[in-house]
Amino acid sequence: MSGTVLILGGGISGLTAALQLSASGHAVTVIEQAAKVGGRLCHAPPPLLLEAHHATWSLLNRLGKDVVTRRLRHTPLEFLQSTGARIQFLHLPLPSPLNTLLGTTLFQGLSMRDRWHLLSFLERTWEQDPPLPNDLDLRLADEWLASIGQSESARRGVWNSLARLLLGAALPQVSAGLFMRTLRRCFLTGARTTKLILPSHGLDSFLLAPLKAQLDALGVQFQTNTMATQLHFDRDRVVRVELADHTTLTADWYIAALPRHHLTPLLPERVVTHYAYFQQLSRLSESPLVIVRLHLDQAIEQTQLVLLEHRTFHWMIRHPDRALHEQAAVVWGIAVDAPDLLAQTNEALILLALKDMGAAFPTTSAPRLIEADVVRQPQAYLTPKPATQQCRPLPSSPFVNFFVAGDWTDTGWPANLESAILSGQRCAEAIPA
Ligand SMILES: Cc1cc2nc3c(=O)[nH]c(=O)nc-3n(C[C@H](O)[C@H](O)[C@H](O)COP(=O)(O)OP(=O)(O)OC[C@H]3O[C@@H](n4cnc5c(N)ncnc54)[C@H](O)[C@@H]3O)c2cc1C
Repeated sequence: MSGTVLILGGGISGLTAALQLSASGHAVTVIEQAAKVGGRLCHAPPPLLLEAHHATWSLLNRLGKDVVTRRLRHTPLEFLQSTGARIQFLHLPLPSPLNTLLGTTLFQGLSMRDRWHLLSFLERTWEQDPPLPNDLDLRLADEWLASIGQSESARRGVWNSLARLLLGAALPQVSAGLFMRTLRRCFLTGARTTKLILPSHGLDSFLLAPLKAQLDALGVQFQTNTMATQLHFDRDRVVRVELADHTTLTADWYIAALPRHHLTPLLPERVVTHYAYFQQLSRLSESPLVIVRLHLDQAIEQTQLVLLEHRTFHWMIRHPDRALHEQAAVVWGIAVDAPDLLAQTNEALILLALKDMGAAFPTTSAPRLIEADVVRQPQAYLTPKPATQQCRPLPSSPFVNFFVAGDWTDTGWPANLESAILSGQRCAEAIPA
């Protein structure tokens, strides 16, 4: 065995690190406060996967699930505008960025003028004339889009919807740098990057269950229902972790794979004030998320994704739900960065979701609702506001045996599944075999 590793947090970032480290010979223990591992993924609808999510595909590949998920069809990106117009972004069978360029040219969601400004900006950035401004990470995406000629209606409609879907926050909150890099990675690089996949089966079947099985086979130890309460530091290293029952655990290496607001209470005051690495975490913040899941008696053929403008829910996903029965469907209504919704009752949120569902997926007769549930996450995602990028930590902390993982750390991606997996991989790579 190379050494002992204690991983705090059994979310996907911690589990990814555990897989890589145990496979390279480390003795790994995962501490998880909940009754089962999986973290936020346990409450999430099947995730939106992009071809550009290389770390996610590489993990699925390792679990043998790549073949299954890649057989899934591309899900079209559809916009329902406030005018009632329903517009699809065409996924053309051409190499990227040609498919995006032609798709943009044909996309009726933007006016001719907005499309022309966008295409001429894209052409100029490829030729690096002028180069992208250095201060994009400090600027708001809304203001920057206006500066490249995007009209108010394009920003409020199309760009705001994309910011919520890809970054988890409304356009007026979002950093121009992260927005630009995410769009470029998703739509402008690689041959097939624009392909958008929404698996209809839950994450349990194609990610969490096979991952847990591999970790068990590799001998990873899990301590669930176990909460870490304090990290103890010596001069240059972590020496032990204290748990809620006042027992302690020690290891050669420690990884905190926790959300930011769960990590900071574990740190002694002197560590936070003395090291810029930890001090800057207080400048990060999170945005809320509300999800309503509706089970319906409705036969549908394929998965649909609709981005909604000026409605309660920002996007809706509808899947056939063959697990329930042949004639069933499940609809997910997702609202990000809408704090007012957190205080609404479940009944009110379900009614609002049914109303938005009627607009997103119109039918001649309303389907029968079989059951519904609501998930509220007050601190669901790192808010990608300007100047956030500089405060997101890299895996290696100032302490030689202590590493930080999680979707909110500095991976170059918004805080999502890809970022969480990548952060776990990078922490594992930083620990010598
Ligand atoms: C409803 C919802 C929908 C989402 N949809 C998508 C999507 O479509 N696409 C996408 O890419 N991403 C999506 N995400 C985001 C994705 O789920 C997260 O980015 C990812 O799961 C984060 O993983 P993580 O390991 O960084 O953190 P977490 O999953 O938060 O894991 C941290 C773990 O640490 C544990 N923990 C916390 N404090 C302690 C402590 N003191 N001691 C011990 N354990 C502790 C927690 O219980 C948790 O299990 C969604 C998230 C939510 C909530």
